[in-house]
Amino acid sequence: MARRKAYTEVKKLNQIRATHVKDMGDVVFKVFQCFSPQCQEIIAVREDTLGEDFEIDCAACGYVHRTGDAEKFYDYELWNTTTNTKIEDGSFEILIDDYVAEAMQYKYCIICNSLKPLEAFHKHAPRKSGRQGECRLCKTVYNGIKNQTRITDQHREAAQKRRLYLDITGAGKIDSGLVRKRFDNKCFKCGCDLSNPKEGHLDHTLPVSLLWPLTTDNATLLCGLHNGQKSGSWPSEYYSDAELRSLAIKTGVPYSVLSGPTHINPDALAALKSKVFVDQLLAKYAAYIEEIIKVRNRIFKMTGFDFFSVSTSISQSIIDLANKQPGSASS
Ligand SMILES: [Zn+2]
Ligand SMILES: [Zn+2]
Ligand SMILES: [Zn+2]
Repeated sequence: MARRKAYTEVKKLNQIRATHVKDMGDVVFKVFQCFSPQCQEIIAVREDTLGEDFEIDCAACGYVHRTGDAEKFYDYELWNTTTNTKIEDGSFEILIDDYVAEAMQYKYCIICNSLKPLEAFHKHAPRKSGRQGECRLCKTVYNGIKNQTRITDQHREAAQKRRLYLDITGAGKIDSGLVRKRFDNKCFKCGCDLSNPKEGHLDHTLPVSLLWPLTTDNATLLCGLHNGQKSGSWPSEYYSDAELRSLAIKTGVPYSVLSGPTHINPDALAALKSKVFVDQLLAKYAAYIEEIIKVRNRIFKMTGFDFFSVSTSISQSIIDLANKQPGSASS
């Protein structure tokens, strides 16, 4: 038999297996909220235990969901508005059978032990549930390991980087609905339609690399292409003068700032003059020191201010490392 390619195999060690998931990979649940009007309990009931007649008790309030029963939500009168006569009285009711029948189907993922909608699993006809044992998310991560194209690490690093900037710039309040409204759900650069909430990016008008937070007043709605093009540029480096004027109206950033010189957010700079703040920052992101060094060198180069000098706990070796980077002022 001809060998085609080297296959890889992922050996699982120290796997966490929750007892409630044992043998549950193919068991389908109906998941619904308790139908008692005042109760918020979420109930999951095995589909294979639901016969023609069922009684499902709510563990929180004791309400019984029983075949044939109904829940009443209001009384009604039906009127003929032409003759102004009443046709009938009645009550608006939902049958328990219908409520349970339309409930979404869920099952457990045998890897991450979570109860998820069936749609979260790839179809797999030979299995009883018609779905794979592991969820799509687990499958993606597994394939990443198997094919050595891991994304979790990159995502984690990107998330840490975002958090680092968030800590320095201060978490700004952003009302994305309001931003979208101001920009009429269109890309500010090309005017393409971004009314689908999954499309469009809230771009930092004044760039995050210069420590400006993403707030309602510092956000520009852009399409993927133009968000990528704008990237870390200062507004005057990317937009025309007419665009800058329009942007000054739509955002809260004054025209003089948008069209003026590139500069670092003075509030963030002030925060970095606090010894306590800098020491906390260094400790929190010790595992991402390269990223902190980039920020330090960028500020140093632009303003001559070295926030490492504010710290009393930073080692000389980290300062030396920072000074050796291509972006540093002393290189
Ligand atoms: Zn209940
Ligand atoms: Zn999973
Ligand atoms: Zn665009």
